[in-house]
Amino acid sequence: MDPYSIFADIIAGRAPASRVYEDDDVLAFMDIRPLTPGHLLVVPKVPARNLAELDPEIGGKLFKVGQRLAAALRASEVACDGVNFFLADGVTAGQEVFHVHLHVIPRTPGDGFGLRARPRTPPRADLDYLAGSVRGALERGTR
Ligand code: 5GP
Repeated sequence: MDPYSIFADIIAGRAPASRVYEDDDVLAFMDIRPLTPGHLLVVPKVPARNLAELDPEIGGKLFKVGQRLAAALRASEVACDGVNFFLADGVTAGQEVFHVHLHVIPRTPGDGFGLRARPRTPPRADLDYLAGSVRGALERGTR
């Protein structure tokens, strides 16, 4: 099945999902391959393949619903001492399903979930240069 259509099929009720929350704009359901038990996905009902296609109002709603779900996870029977939000935008970022989705991942000590990276502190001049470049893009109206 075309991965783009999986979430559309879930939203339309053509594919099964363990639903948790729904309103006019978003749907939340259990991830079929949870990174930790209780892992949820929040998706916009109007399909957007990536952040550039997503209406920012709906993007705000994804976060708002994610925030409620984080509280609900902590108050539920799901083991949850902490929560990570994760959103992959683009193949290089790890996106596999091309319908924007916010991962809401409950965390417990030693659950094995983590991000791999090699952080280092660059010279201030490098930070300032890139900050200026991003500011320029904002001023040119990139959203
Ligand atoms: P991505 O890597 O694109 O950020 O994450 C895609 C997520 O969608 C994965 O965590 C994967 O387990 C989940 N997923 C893929 N297909 C289905 C499906 O048919 N149903 C559900 N509930 N989750 C899915």
